[in-house]
Amino acid sequence: MLAWLHLVALGVGLGGVWGRARALHDSLREPVDERALKRALVADTWWGVAAVLWLVTGLWRLLASTEKSTSYYLSNHAFYAKMAMFVAILALEAWPMMTLIRWRMATREPNTRDAGRIEVISYVECALVIAMVLAAVAMARGFGMADGSARAIVTDSLTALGDSAEAAAVEPASSNAPLPIPASSDLELLARELAMPLAGIDPAKLHSNFNDLRAGTRRHEALDIMAPRRTPVMSAASGRVLKLFTSRNGGLMVYAADSSERFILMYAHLDSYAPGLHDGDTLTRGQLIGYVGFTGNASPKAPHLHFAIARSDDVRRWSKGTPVDPLPLLQAARR
Ligand SMILES: [Zn+2]
Repeated sequence: MLAWLHLVALGVGLGGVWGRARALHDSLREPVDERALKRALVADTWWGVAAVLWLVTGLWRLLASTEKSTSYYLSNHAFYAKMAMFVAILALEAWPMMTLIRWRMATREPNTRDAGRIEVISYVECALVIAMVLAAVAMARGFGMADGSARAIVTDSLTALGDSAEAAAVEPASSNAPLPIPASSDLELLARELAMPLAGIDPAKLHSNFNDLRAGTRRHEALDIMAPRRTPVMSAASGRVLKLFTSRNGGLMVYAADSSERFILMYAHLDSYAPGLHDGDTLTRGQLIGYVGFTGNASPKAPHLHFAIARSDDVRRWSKGTPVDPLPLLQAARR
């Protein structure tokens, strides 16, 4: 709703300030258009409504972390570019706002010189609003992030998810499209959404076993987190359940998509699922999805969670993707 209102304000505001410029232009014409000035004031009111909407929804989204954390915005250059343009618009608007208030209150007579000036200022503000949209899009897609911590973990591996060799085998043979390479901006976005799937474990104290070899030649391409049997496993990100799957190697597994639908998160060797969990269920970060176990090819002496992340172009193909080491992402997520 906040994002919607913020975008609706774009339509209202751009229409308002453009309409104000056009109406002021008309007010300068000969013969005099009696209603042009009135139209300019109506458009100016909508421009003001948009400003209030932008401020309230923008501050709410920034400070209440409704979508991304406050630190996400504050570490993003595109956010500062957007704010600089917003401040420029406020500065430009100060004089027109005061002048038009005086016109409304009839403490100052409308005149062609002021009308012409406000017309030009309005067009400049239009251009700034349009440029702000570009900064907003860049910001939302993770461009302009100040710290590149997640950048080093891009992998060019083209193999399937760690323990899902069997899952891959049940896929139709037609899905031979090249697997996607994770973009650093995607990884940075994911890192900011992630939480540890097991409570009370500090990711800074874990060691990556992503590149360990399993069964001789196959890379592990996941993170094993040791934990007692029946330790609750929480969804590491908001999103949805793609597939509850059982395989000889992975045992009881959950395949889930993150909210961006760009990543597949996989949890394996579960003792059991959370009661009532089904394919397609919406997940919120931290929601119980199952319990640590040793189903599949895990040792009963070493119950653990096998947690894998893969970049995917189509999460409906839940067993396919480009593996990404979860540990650096989880460690980046702690900040
Ligand atoms: Zn494993």
